[in-house]
Amino acid sequence: MIFLLFSFTINLSGNIYTFQEYTIENNRYIGSDSLIGKLDLSSHWDNNRQTLTLQKEKVVYLIPDNPFIKIERDVYQLRYAPIRKDGKLFIPTTSLALILGGLLNMEANFENGRLEIGTRVNIYGIHWKVDSSSTEWTIECSPSLNYLFNKTNGEWILTLFNPIYNKKILDQPSKGLIEEIKVEEGEGFIKFRFKTKNDLPMDIIRNGKLLNIEVKRFEKRAIRTIVVDPGHGGKDPGAKYLGFMEKNIVLKVSKKLAARLTEDGFNIIMTRTNDEFIPLKERTQIADSARADLFVSIHCNASYSSNKMHGAETYFLSAAKSDWARTVEATENSAIRFEAEDNPDITEIDYILNDLAQTQFLEESQQAAIYIQESLIHKSDLYNRGAKQANFYVLRLNYMPAVLVEIAFLTNSKDRKKLLNDEFIEKTASAIAEGIEEYARVRF
Ligand SMILES: [Zn+2]
Repeated sequence: MIFLLFSFTINLSGNIYTFQEYTIENNRYIGSDSLIGKLDLSSHWDNNRQTLTLQKEKVVYLIPDNPFIKIERDVYQLRYAPIRKDGKLFIPTTSLALILGGLLNMEANFENGRLEIGTRVNIYGIHWKVDSSSTEWTIECSPSLNYLFNKTNGEWILTLFNPIYNKKILDQPSKGLIEEIKVEEGEGFIKFRFKTKNDLPMDIIRNGKLLNIEVKRFEKRAIRTIVVDPGHGGKDPGAKYLGFMEKNIVLKVSKKLAARLTEDGFNIIMTRTNDEFIPLKERTQIADSARADLFVSIHCNASYSSNKMHGAETYFLSAAKSDWARTVEATENSAIRFEAEDNPDITEIDYILNDLAQTQFLEESQQAAIYIQESLIHKSDLYNRGAKQANFYVLRLNYMPAVLVEIAFLTNSKDRKKLLNDEFIEKTASAIAEGIEEYARVRF
């Protein structure tokens, strides 16, 4: 008596095959014809010897009602013999791992009621998640797979021990903040070597089958607190021409700027609100201890060698790129000579450390400089000298992007006329404020 049972499935290297399973005298069987057809086996029925020969990678011999089978030259005993009924041979389901494993020369095991055939992997796949501020590279693997994650010579290295994987995982493109992945195969291990954008740090978290490696961009903060720094003051007049002094003009602009930004909802800190001398180092300390989100230093320019030079320029911190930037830098940094007696401790080390701290804000500082410069040019009718890089001491901050605005030239007659005009001062302060607001808006 033959009963039709449920279907039986075989997973052969990821391909699922379904077979009808029968019970014959209380044991379970699969028809050899369906195995031959679906798994594409060669077969031959020898009627004289009553032997079914199946062939794929190896040859298997089966005899009805005989529990002994041969795989190539080896003989195995099955729990139940194959049965021949209605001209067909039925193969015991419980012996399929042995028979098909032998035929296909692959590892075969029963798992959760189905037969798994093929090399078993312990690395299943790799997934990516990329957005503007982070990149995740996740390897899906057996929870028991051992790994090591460390940083050597500027590379982050993930080593997985005793891995079994499909070769397709060796092809690793780079995406998002991960600039390069090199794969190295070895005896008993596989290594993934990562290089990240701007050498950003990587984090690893294991969560069951997922080994998740994440790179995050330096977190951007909303701009709430802004330090407005009127240049010079007190015994340091800044640029001086025909009795007019930079320190007074920039204080006026800064006060208007601070008022406008306060009105617009920003929290404003000024480094000075009257004509007093504040050392450069103290200005940076005020900003750093406030943990402000942006530092804006307000200045006006001078060229004692050419009164033709005119216009506005906005600087962000970096090694000076042009001779002119170096000239401005030397002038603005010269305030240090006024504070030498108060600050004998400004050392080379301070400069280097501060430079390192500021590099992470380079991109943001540049963006802020561009927005401020653009707004200034369009709204106050000044010649555009551009957003530039220079090495100003006052911009060497630890915790925020920083820019320095040189509004116009005190040494140029047209520019000077503007600088001494209250309406222009008002317009300039608004223009800088609008540039800052635009920058604050677009950076998210
Ligand atoms: Zn200045």
